[in-house]
Amino acid sequence: MSNIHHIKQHTSEEFPIVIIGCGFGGIGMGIKLREAGIHSFTIFERADEVGGTWRDNTYPGCACDVPSYVYSFSFEPNPNWSNIFGQQQEIQQYLLDCVAKHQLRSHIRFNTAVVKAEFNDEEGIWNLTTESGEIHQARVVITAVGGLTDPALPDITGINDFKGEMFHTARWNNDYDYGNKRVAVIGTGCSAVQVIPSIQPDVAHLDVFQRTPAWIMPRHDFTISQKFKSFLAKYPKVQSAIRGVLYWGSESLAPFLILDSKWLSKPFEALAYRNLTKHVEDPELRQKLTPHFQFGCKRMIVSDDYYPALTQENVALITSPIERITEDGIVTKDGVHHALDCIVLATGFDLSLAASPFEIQGRDQRSLNDEWSVDGAYAYKGVSIAGYPNWFSIMGPNTGPGHTSVLIYTEAQINYIMGGIQTLKTQNLKYVDVRQDVMDEYNRNIQKRMKHTVWTGGSCVSWYLNADGSNHALYPGFATEYCHGIKQFKLNEYETTLYPQVQDLPATSAAG
Ligand code: NAP
Repeated sequence: MSNIHHIKQHTSEEFPIVIIGCGFGGIGMGIKLREAGIHSFTIFERADEVGGTWRDNTYPGCACDVPSYVYSFSFEPNPNWSNIFGQQQEIQQYLLDCVAKHQLRSHIRFNTAVVKAEFNDEEGIWNLTTESGEIHQARVVITAVGGLTDPALPDITGINDFKGEMFHTARWNNDYDYGNKRVAVIGTGCSAVQVIPSIQPDVAHLDVFQRTPAWIMPRHDFTISQKFKSFLAKYPKVQSAIRGVLYWGSESLAPFLILDSKWLSKPFEALAYRNLTKHVEDPELRQKLTPHFQFGCKRMIVSDDYYPALTQENVALITSPIERITEDGIVTKDGVHHALDCIVLATGFDLSLAASPFEIQGRDQRSLNDEWSVDGAYAYKGVSIAGYPNWFSIMGPNTGPGHTSVLIYTEAQINYIMGGIQTLKTQNLKYVDVRQDVMDEYNRNIQKRMKHTVWTGGSCVSWYLNADGSNHALYPGFATEYCHGIKQFKLNEYETTLYPQVQDLPATSAAG
């Protein structure tokens, strides 16, 4: 392989670390490494800018559905959120500001997709191959590749025949002028519910293709006044108190949104149904919009403008299944041809929780892809995988929340990984590899608890579930419980090997 080149030589003291992905996870990890005085890390980012899902999702109306005071780093509070629920542009700007403030940019290699990782047992080194064939070496690899990144494109007959404009919500064509056009939105999940009211006033006609109606709660968003922003800037403790209130508020909702209990779901279903009846008077439309699964089974959606948008004259809610896409529109099973200029695919993401994000070869040439394809993705606390030493994941298997901010989990993972790195360094260990029995026991417990969750028992199909119905996406408990469990890196849960005496190791192109 002639195009392989090793970058410069470092000594083992420099401890090359590679982070893969520069969204919230990668940025948070980079900040914490630098804070600890560790500068020998490189962040590989396949795109040309940071931000991950917040860089990619530029569709009209894109905003967070978790209040921004808690959907942001606790160590980087932003007093300037425009609304309770921050909008995409300001979340992306927040991430850009974090990168600038913590001088991360020089650590980032943009347009660099890692396609293969192989562990060298003898040296305790990961060899990472990029798309262009370069090989980089690292003592520790941290994947922060996110889950909701790759669009899931629907398998609809004729999808490639359409001659009009077609794009996925996560790949919105901002050059396309949808004004006065006949537009279709396929899907009625979180993304669709934000897009639909945002484009409805401008389009000539909007066809909304709904397969499964969702439970939608009021959002109660409001604009934050300049006075209050200044107050928060002056008194950051108030902001952290607000974060605490929001955190404990969402924790109190956890049983209602997690457990498979009709009694616990009922009050939420009643509130969501009241939200529906408040906005939709037409009994036929109401009926079409009434969900038939247990509340919480799919992610709860919050919106104040989705139902009102559906009642507008230029909008049709179509529930007859899509049969095929033609050159100029969509034909539904009832035989109707819907003529269109543009089709928006709001069809969600390909989570791939039965496959590794790329080829990963651990100890004894074991392949993560092969292992995960059997029973889905597993890790210890979502972070460490037996047989893959010094490899850590951020937002790994079974670490997603159904009721609160994912960043609570992310921060806990970053802290835990820092513990692992410090242990490796201070104890001069070649590697730490989580014990198979420890990982298996952890996951047996997770999957046992999963049986009692609304995600598996609530009569719905969602992106949380693998094809076999198992859930490797979410954590079936309180965030507090998860964070407590991952607070300390415990070396007795890992197999370890001492590092051979100091030798020169080829390293990454780590800046700094
Ligand atoms: P999603 O929740 O997976 O929704 C996809 C929608 O497309 C569903 O309504 C689905 O119908 C429909 N669909 C998929 N394939 C279809 C097909 N072949 N024919 C017809 N309909 C089809 O995706 P999403 O809305 O992008 O949201 C994904 C996740 O991203 C959310 O759960 C949330 O975690 C996150 N998100 C967050 C925000 C935010 O914070 N603001 C915004 C957007 C997304 P079925 O229900 O019948 O499968």
